[in-house]
Amino acid sequence: MVRTKLIAGNWKMNGDSRSIKQLMDGIKEQLDPAWQSEVLVCAPAVYLPLVVDFVGISGIKVGAQNLSQQAQGAFTGEISAAMLSDVGGQYVLVGHSERRSLYGENSKLVAEKFNAALTKGLIPVLCVGETLEEREAGTTMTVVKGQIDAVIEQYGIETLGQGVIAYEPVWAIGTGKTASPEQAQAVHADIRAHLAQFDAQIAHKTRILYGGSMNPTNAEQLLAQPDIDGGLIGGASLKAEQFIAICKAAG
Ligand code: PEP
Repeated sequence: MVRTKLIAGNWKMNGDSRSIKQLMDGIKEQLDPAWQSEVLVCAPAVYLPLVVDFVGISGIKVGAQNLSQQAQGAFTGEISAAMLSDVGGQYVLVGHSERRSLYGENSKLVAEKFNAALTKGLIPVLCVGETLEEREAGTTMTVVKGQIDAVIEQYGIETLGQGVIAYEPVWAIGTGKTASPEQAQAVHADIRAHLAQFDAQIAHKTRILYGGSMNPTNAEQLLAQPDIDGGLIGGASLKAEQFIAICKAAG
């Protein structure tokens, strides 16, 4: 089984109706239908309906950047999986390092969000990754496995296998420092080997994206690694030409 590559843009808290229309126009214009990879844009929640309208029949997938672990009710300010799905969302990021570090999301909560997404038909993208201190202390895989195991322990490997994993070393996010293709591949291979201890088939079919300062210059080499199944792209996803160049590198 060949894993279809996924190129996912994470716009974070950027843009407005005008700039988003421009960005989407640019992406749609330059997207080559011959490319095999799946293309996803994760927009701020309020703009999802606009982006869903815009992608039309282009085949571009639309996702959110966060969701509530709760199904509904008195949770002021929160947005449920059902709501994201209702307005046309197909994917949702969970456990992005900014959510973990700035909003105190721990792995148990992230696992609940992962599961909540699936209950409403959204595909969760589980973001995992170590800080620089953790890497330097040699604990990268302990950290990453712990973040993944929180889902497996609460909901099982079959549940994990319905989502996507994004390995994003925290020290590479928004810093311009990228993991080398060899560094990234080593962690991706270890993640897959870890999943295989639970279920070899799920390990083989699960897509593991790399994220952290991916750009048109480094994308091709990263995406050529056998266990790198796509990218989660922050900064470079805000410029149509750069995002498209990465999609092209994925082919
Ligand atoms: C991200 O936020 O998921 C990310 C990878 O950001 P950047 O590409 O800007 O490092």
